[in-house]
Amino acid sequence: MIAAIAQQIKQGNSFLIASHSSPDGDAIGSTLALSLALRLMGKEAVALNVDGVPDNFAFLPGADELVTSIAPTRHYDVGFVLDAGELKRAGVPVADYCTTLINIDHHPHSDFGDICYVDTSASATAALIYRILKACGFTLSLDVATSLYTAILSDTGSFRYSNADPEAFTIAGELVGMGIDTWDIASRLYESQPAQRMMLLSLVLATLEISKCGNYASVTMSTEMLDAAEARAEDTDGFVNYPRAIQGVEVAVFFRQINQRQTKVGFRSRGAVDVGEFARKLGGGGHHNAAGVTIDGTLEDVRHTVLRLLEQYFASA
Ligand code: 5GP
Ligand code: MN
Repeated sequence: MIAAIAQQIKQGNSFLIASHSSPDGDAIGSTLALSLALRLMGKEAVALNVDGVPDNFAFLPGADELVTSIAPTRHYDVGFVLDAGELKRAGVPVADYCTTLINIDHHPHSDFGDICYVDTSASATAALIYRILKACGFTLSLDVATSLYTAILSDTGSFRYSNADPEAFTIAGELVGMGIDTWDIASRLYESQPAQRMMLLSLVLATLEISKCGNYASVTMSTEMLDAAEARAEDTDGFVNYPRAIQGVEVAVFFRQINQRQTKVGFRSRGAVDVGEFARKLGGGGHHNAAGVTIDGTLEDVRHTVLRLLEQYFASA
């Protein structure tokens, strides 16, 4: 599989590199690392994300060249979709823009693409990008290394989660050895938060609800809170980790009102419960410990439905 992708890279001239909307560190880091590497190989490479680069990742090399849309007339030899879980999460019909569609992912049930390289055991999609670049004989540059490290750092929760496997540490060790600035990356990711995010967090934490059994807990955000804090949807990234940080809580939920009709539900598990299964039952997807779904329904209705499901789950567990 890796050899087939390396062959496509060798043969192709023009590449489109996309990932999922509302990109996280792995999505954006993998996108920028691969596009930059392709450019350094002398190829034309366009990085695309419908939602652009979140502010805290704007320091990554090549972030300013990422585009948020593609002219319908454009065509590329190869289109990469990274870390997306499902093709539709790219938010653009990538297949329409390219001759060959390559899916690179570590999400379970990710099964689209002419070439589908999915390794659910990989810590991050960036680890797969690393494997591919090595297979191409590419010598990593400091800029590519910075994006790969940022992606792995963020998808492993700073090497805390169970997906932080030996490969994640081995890759990180090589990248750190190259001289990337680890404190600069960490401080930009975790210690440069917009004041609005903290204001929003204070509103959202006030909604904390812990179940009677103590096994699950949730926080909720209405669009009113978002407006009151003058924050943006991307500022809510990581909020779901707070209810999980409570002793005894196995499943954490974050309810985020998108508008009057739609609600986004984010799940986190401590490890005993497969929240990916939960999310899939509701029409979404994700990993064992991190999953999500967007549901058509008001904030109140969706909260009611999901909390009842959890109550039933833990009552019968
Ligand atoms: P987050 O809570 O950080 O937005 O998402 C955590 C994980 O849940 C993601 O890595 C992704 O696997 C999954 N996920 C979140 N939202 C959706 C969704 O709407 N659809 C699918 N299929 N997966 C999602
Ligand atoms: Mn990922």
